[in-house]
Amino acid sequence: MLSSPAIWREFFQNYYQDELNKIAGRISTGSFGVRSINVDVLSHLTIFKEGTLAEELFSNPDKVIDDARRGIELTDNIYDVKLENCIPRFFNLPLARRILIRDLRAEHISKFVAIEGIVRKVTEVRPKIVEAAYFCGNCGKKVRVYQEEGVLKPPYECPACKSKRFTFVPEESVLIDSQRIKIQEYPENLKGGEQPQSIDVYLEGDISGIINPGDRVVINGIVRANPRGQGMKKLTHMDLFIEGNSIEILQQEYEEFEITEEDKKKILELAEDEGIYKKIVGSIAPSIYGYEDIKLAIALQLFGGVPKRLPDGTEIRGDIHILLVGDPGVAKSQLLRYVHRIAPRSVYTTGKGTTTAGLTATAVRDEVDGRWTLEAGALVLADKGIALVDEIDKMRAEDRSALHEAMEQQTISVAKAGINAVLKARCALLGAANPKYGRFDKYQPIAEQINLSPTLMSRFDLTFVLTDDPDVERDKALATHILKTHKLGEKLEKMKNVSSEYTRQSLEAEIQKVTPAIEPDLLRKYVAYAKRTVFPVLTEEAERRIVEFYVGMRGKAKENSPVPITARQLEALIRLAEASARIRLSDRVEVEDVERVIRIIRKSLEQIAMD
Ligand code: ADP
Ligand code: MG
Repeated sequence: MLSSPAIWREFFQNYYQDELNKIAGRISTGSFGVRSINVDVLSHLTIFKEGTLAEELFSNPDKVIDDARRGIELTDNIYDVKLENCIPRFFNLPLARRILIRDLRAEHISKFVAIEGIVRKVTEVRPKIVEAAYFCGNCGKKVRVYQEEGVLKPPYECPACKSKRFTFVPEESVLIDSQRIKIQEYPENLKGGEQPQSIDVYLEGDISGIINPGDRVVINGIVRANPRGQGMKKLTHMDLFIEGNSIEILQQEYEEFEITEEDKKKILELAEDEGIYKKIVGSIAPSIYGYEDIKLAIALQLFGGVPKRLPDGTEIRGDIHILLVGDPGVAKSQLLRYVHRIAPRSVYTTGKGTTTAGLTATAVRDEVDGRWTLEAGALVLADKGIALVDEIDKMRAEDRSALHEAMEQQTISVAKAGINAVLKARCALLGAANPKYGRFDKYQPIAEQINLSPTLMSRFDLTFVLTDDPDVERDKALATHILKTHKLGEKLEKMKNVSSEYTRQSLEAEIQKVTPAIEPDLLRKYVAYAKRTVFPVLTEEAERRIVEFYVGMRGKAKENSPVPITARQLEALIRLAEASARIRLSDRVEVEDVERVIRIIRKSLEQIAMD
C-alpha cells in the first residue's frame, strides 16, 4: 500500500499549501475546533501518483483518511504551528464511484462512495463527545478517554491512585457537532409508482447543520452497517448508513435531462406543428375519455409560466396550481397518477398522507434519540417539479395552514424547538378533492361543498368541477372508450404472436387511438427543454386583451360570487398565457395564447360558480 502519513504530507504540500497556511494562521490566532481541508479528488488526487492514493481511499478509507489526517499534522506552514484536528474532506469523486441508494450492497461496506439524492429529513445539530475529560474523585487527577459512538464511557481506573470514582467535566471534554440526515432517491429517477428508497447519513463537524430538507446533494463517505433492532435485541440483518465525509449541494435545475441533438430536432418539429396543442392534450392520459379542457390545463401546468422578481424584491411564482373537485369515480385519481408518470420531478401523495411528513413539513421528536427532526413533505420534495396531491381535502390541520404560504410564497417556514428553517417549495400543485358529503348536490353552491377554505381555493389558478351526471351520449362514448382500452391490453399481448402483416397493421392502427400522440419520454424532454430555454414576454396586443378581459370580469362579478375576481386571477391569466406560448416554444405571448387561456378560465369559472 502506498498510503502513509509521509506520502500525504507530500500530497498536501503539493496541492494545498495555501489552505494549510490559512488554517495555520487561524490556529496561531487562537481559534479552536475542527477544521476541514477540502480535497478535490478528480482534479488532484486521481492525478497524484497515477491515482493510486485515490484508489486506496476508495477501497480502504479508514486507514487512508487516518494517514491523511496524520499527514496534515506533518506539513509545514508559514506560521510554524502544528495542524491538529484537521479533517480531510474528499469531494468531486469520479462518476464510477456514484452508487444509487437502491444498489448499495454488502460489498460496499467500509468503502468510500458517493451517494446522490434529495434530503428528506434532518435532525437538529447537537454536540457529541469525542474525548471525555474526568476528574478522579479520590486524588483529583485529570483523565481523558476517547469515546466510541454510543454510551459515555468513564475511565476504568485512575492511573495514579487506582480509584474508580470519577466526575465528568464537560467544559474540558472535546465536543464535535453532529447531525443525522436521511436522503432519498430523486423522484424523477423512479419508474411509475416505485417507492423511493432512502438511507441515513451521519455528519460531524462543520458539515453538520448546512443542509435543509429538499436540498439535492451528493454525500461522499464511508458505507457502514449496523445490526437491526435496538438494545439487547440485535438482529443479524444489517441496516446500512453512510458516515459522511463531505457534502456537495447541487444546483436545482432541469439539468438531469440529457437532450440529444436528435431529441432537439424532434422537439422543434413538434413545436412547429399546427396541431401541437391537440397533440399534447392527446398525450395526457389518453386512456381517460373526455376532459379535453382539463388536459389542456394540465399541459399548461407542465410547461408553467415564467417566475418573476419585481423591482421591490417581491417574487411572483410561475408555477400553475390546479384543483380538480368531483364526484367519486370520475377518474380524478387516474389523471393524477398519469401526470405522475409523465411529469419531470413529480411527487405523488394523498392528503391523508402515507408518510408522517404530510404535504409541507413536520418537526417531530425522534423516538430513538429524542432529537428534534425536520422532515420534508411532498411539496418540498417536489421543489422545481409538480406535487400531485390526491384527496387534498383530507389533509392534516398543520398542512392546511402551511399550505397558504407554500402555494403563494413557495416557501415553508418551520419554527419549533431547536429547529428554525425556511424550506423551498417551488412546485406546481395538482390537487384532487371529493365533495364533503359524498356527491355534489346540484342545488347547492359548489364552493360550499368542498372542505377547503375560500382563501385556499383562491390560490388555485384553475379549478375544475367533474360531476357524474347521467348523459346517454357521453355514457355510451365513455363505455366504448373504456372497453376499447381494456381490450387493447389483451391485443397487445396477442400482437407478440401475430404473423399476418395485415392483422398486425390493423391492430396497430387501433392501438394508436389510445396511445399517446407524443411518447412520454419525448414529452418529458419537450417540457424540460421549454422550461430551460423559453421565457416568453407579452406582446402589446396580448396585454391589451388581458386588461380588457380582466376589467370585464370584474364588472360582471356578482357581489356574493363564490370566487371573487381579484388581482390573483390576473396573475393566473398571465402565467397561463406564458405557458401557452412556451408550448409553441415562442418567445412572445400572442393574442392567440390569451384567447386560449380565456376560454379555459371561463370554463373553470362557470363550473365553480354554477349553482
Ligand atoms: P376518482 O378518483 O375520481 O374517485 P378514479 O380515478 O379512481 O376516480 O376512477 C375510477 C375508475 O373509473 C378508474 O378505473 C377510471 O379509469 C374509470 N373512469 C372514470 N371516468 C373515466 C373516463 N372518463 N375515462 C376512462 N376511465 C374512466
Ligand atoms: Mg380518487
